[in-house]
Amino acid sequence: MQQTFAIIKPDAVQRNIIGQIIARLEKNGFRIAAMKMCHLSPAQAQGFYQEHEGKPFFDGLVEYMTSGPVVLCVLEKENAVADYRKLMGTTDPAEAEKGTLRADFAVNKRQNSVHGSDSIASAAREISYFFAQTEIV
Ligand code: ATP
Ligand code: MG
Repeated sequence: MQQTFAIIKPDAVQRNIIGQIIARLEKNGFRIAAMKMCHLSPAQAQGFYQEHEGKPFFDGLVEYMTSGPVVLCVLEKENAVADYRKLMGTTDPAEAEKGTLRADFAVNKRQNSVHGSDSIASAAREISYFFAQTEIV
């Protein structure tokens, strides 16, 4: 079964909507194969978002992602990567389709509540960045 990697970002954790987001994942057929909460260090956030290094939003992104706790998840479903990207909606919630997680929960383009891997290769890298194989059930 295909796996993807999700983060419930600091804005959502801070607003106590972890449960609402998890409920939407489950309702949409995703199985939670691993989950843990943590407070990312700057080094962890920089390494995770290395593809964005040098972009104008990079420093702000790292600051935001380290501003409070996050929930890290491995999600499992057929076609998980593409289906979860669709469920999340576009990066900017102002443009996100109605019924998507970002349309319903995100604050703005930076504080957009959720992360999802953008390809099967990214999913593999991101899962192994945060989880040991023994933590995925
Ligand atoms: P994610 O990788 O978190 O799933 P994404 O793939 O939709 O989101 P990316 O282009 O990979 O978007 O950007 C990573 C994250 O950086 C975004 O989710 C958002 O939090 C932040 N970000 C992206 N572009 C901007 C911007 N122009 N201004 C502020 N923050 C931004
Ligand atoms: Mg991305």
